[in-house]
Amino acid sequence: MALSLLALVASVVVAVGHPTMMAAVETRPAKMARLSRLRGTLPQMSQTALAALLAAAKEAPLPDVSRRADVREAKQLAARTLTPYGPVHAQLPMLCHSGAVKLVEVQSPWPMLHLACQTSEGFSSFISDLCGNVGAPTIQSPWGLIMYSDEVDPGDPLMGKHGRKYQAVYWSILEFGASALSEEELWFTFCTVRSVVVRQMVGGMSALMACLLRHMFHGVHSPSDAGILIDLGGLQIRFFFELRQMIGDELALQQLNCHRGASAEVPCMFCMNVKSKRSIDVLHDRAGYFVLVTCVDCEKFKFHSDVTIRKIAFDLRDRSSVETKEGMKTLQKQLGYSYIPNSLLLCPVLKYKPATLTVYDWMHCFLVDGVFNITVGQTMAVAHKLGVSYKNMASFVATWSWPRRLTQKGAIGKDLFKPSRIATWRKEQKFKCSASEALSLYPVMAAFLQMESTRLGLAENPAFAVLYLCCDVLDHLLCIPRGTCTPEGLAEAIVSFLRLYKLVFGEKHWTPKFHSILHLPRMLAEHKVIIPCFVAERKHKEGKRIAGYLHNTSVDFERSLLEDITSNHLHALRDFVVKPRICSGIARCSETLLAQLQASFPDAISLQVGKRAKFNQFNETEVGDIVLAQIGNHVVAAEICGAIVADGAVFFLVSKLKLISSEKRLSKWQRVGQELRLLEGVSILGPCVHRNDGDVVVVIRCV
Ligand SMILES: [Zn+2]
Repeated sequence: MALSLLALVASVVVAVGHPTMMAAVETRPAKMARLSRLRGTLPQMSQTALAALLAAAKEAPLPDVSRRADVREAKQLAARTLTPYGPVHAQLPMLCHSGAVKLVEVQSPWPMLHLACQTSEGFSSFISDLCGNVGAPTIQSPWGLIMYSDEVDPGDPLMGKHGRKYQAVYWSILEFGASALSEEELWFTFCTVRSVVVRQMVGGMSALMACLLRHMFHGVHSPSDAGILIDLGGLQIRFFFELRQMIGDELALQQLNCHRGASAEVPCMFCMNVKSKRSIDVLHDRAGYFVLVTCVDCEKFKFHSDVTIRKIAFDLRDRSSVETKEGMKTLQKQLGYSYIPNSLLLCPVLKYKPATLTVYDWMHCFLVDGVFNITVGQTMAVAHKLGVSYKNMASFVATWSWPRRLTQKGAIGKDLFKPSRIATWRKEQKFKCSASEALSLYPVMAAFLQMESTRLGLAENPAFAVLYLCCDVLDHLLCIPRGTCTPEGLAEAIVSFLRLYKLVFGEKHWTPKFHSILHLPRMLAEHKVIIPCFVAERKHKEGKRIAGYLHNTSVDFERSLLEDITSNHLHALRDFVVKPRICSGIARCSETLLAQLQASFPDAISLQVGKRAKFNQFNETEVGDIVLAQIGNHVVAAEICGAIVADGAVFFLVSKLKLISSEKRLSKWQRVGQELRLLEGVSILGPCVHRNDGDVVVVIRCV
């Protein structure tokens, strides 16, 4: 229904927008009345969508098709495109409990990669530049693939139904680097299958992932032996790939690896001797083999290997035919793993390596009902007894300004501190917010406690020290993309934090996530880079939006949703540019400024001026932001007053600040006059959270 009426909008817009002679004599009130009538005849759509459609109709005549079938055909165009590696979409057979075979719609990785490189000049040149920088893949040293899976709930606010919940699987290439992997466009959507459908399949999510990996690596075109030939704007390169990382939240990793989960008696899939807090095995264990999940001495853990985990899976399969139901239950409980037929672990073709490939997502471990949320809750419970409340924190947080880009996205968490929420946080002794809000707030919260504890003469209070150490760990994790976080440094930060936490707050609120973070340094050492899943959370939003519009959830849901996602992704890739550039221009440049710029860049062939620009491949800053920059051995702070691109190189017009004092997290800077200087984009470390105290700018160190 929605689609056919959308087509109707198109035809109506042509009738409304094109007689320009009529528009010339039509008064504004008359135009508004006509627009209002038009809106009234159309199905509900966002103002942005209608405005964009009206603008498109003004630019060029709309296509001369209007049937709902036409709109659907246009949407299917990308999915049905035939490449040398087959059509972009394929259907894979999955065995169901009923004995029937269900065909699952997937976006085939190699045809999609081929088409994406063909469609997007920016994407194709990004990959060819990368081949120059890190070396093209060869059969001996293939590039690594990273897979992410998660359950997404588009919800149904009117019906309270969750029939549209679906399992999303995304993939990308690790050689893109940690910064690039925070861009949604660089992750491909393998499939979006409703959870109810996944539950009907023998082996559920683990079997579905096994099927996807077989399609990826053991299909007609093998990326590990023959390679995938891709045309990068005339440069033909054969790409070889291997699977290197599987990431996701705890539930997703648990489903894939047939592990019984964090709440089971053996709460960690990597440690065979770690037992849950309520386990009595540790009490009866005289040999000292078992340790509790609250242990922070990594030397005591007995780690599983790929071989031991797979052996458990095969043993359970063999025992399932001879053991009683009760016997199987006990066995699975003791081992911490479940027998799931058709699972990833049992696939003879894939020879899956669960211990090597599985990587925890530190965002979920720390920021989603995680270690950070609990630590803040515990620290504030102590602070409250000393007369420092969340209300005081709210007034402190309100005085800070975040980089404008973050403020516009609404992910800074400044408005979180409402009385009803504060009451819940205090009651549950847990700070509740979204992961991106926690990420924006944590440096300011640390600064608050630092300042308050100094004011109260409690600088050495161990409860505050626990939270600082937790923030230190987050600082380390955020340094991973810059390559300045070593596994040894991370391990030291995590162990110091956990030891003090246990000493100060005890084990009552200790969850399995506190144990999970002990595995992060090893994962960093083995994989060189570990990726937080903020990007996946953002990517889910598009799927949720489309799924929310799909009225019929019983037939062709998977195909319809994935067709839209594929089509939208290719459109987004068309505009994909990674080079430093102006992102938001200005309408007019004053003559004085123009004269100054021409004097500064006398040989420049092209000069562009703007309000917002990318200072490196993926990060941007804009007028009003305070940035820290590295000049030689010194770090300087400056306020952005404009952006300039001269023959492809990015510069910023800045007003420099003079350093007054610097502490661990905070530095104070003095404004010195109005004189503007030029700052090279490459020297910028990043925009910072800051506060204006008269002429003094207090800056929170960006990590
Ligand atoms: Zn463990």
